[in-house]
Amino acid sequence: MVKSKMLQECPCGSGAAFEQCCEPYLLGTSTAPNALALMRSRYTAYTLADEAYLQKTWHVSTRPTLISQQMGPMKWLGLEIIVYHQEQHFATVEFITQYKINGRAGKLHEKSQFVFEDGNWLYLDAACFENDSDDHDLISFG
Ligand SMILES: [Zn+2]
Repeated sequence: MVKSKMLQECPCGSGAAFEQCCEPYLLGTSTAPNALALMRSRYTAYTLADEAYLQKTWHVSTRPTLISQQMGPMKWLGLEIIVYHQEQHFATVEFITQYKINGRAGKLHEKSQFVFEDGNWLYLDAACFENDSDDHDLISFG
């Protein structure tokens, strides 16, 4: 059987092919045009354990020295964008992502903050809503 070169769906869940979605950002052939695209590409980088890309897109003031230590044996299962809000130089993306760690499923509900600096969107930091797998405990602010 001949293996044809199929277009692989992007891990970020956009439904687009990887090479037409997050791959150019990860390869550095283009930069994310907005915070949402950056958020998606960073999620993809997590699924691929692309530490270099995560470092590159992390604001210098909050960037950890070794990201892979935090990633551990995590397996990312999907990304769902809840709210996306962007101003000229600042943006927030609220999302839920499912993951599996040591065979246990979990859910991360987070609001990430992004800043636009020197022509690039960068990840700044995040507020966590909830870190366990129970749907009913989602905390909402405001
Ligand atoms: Zn993507």
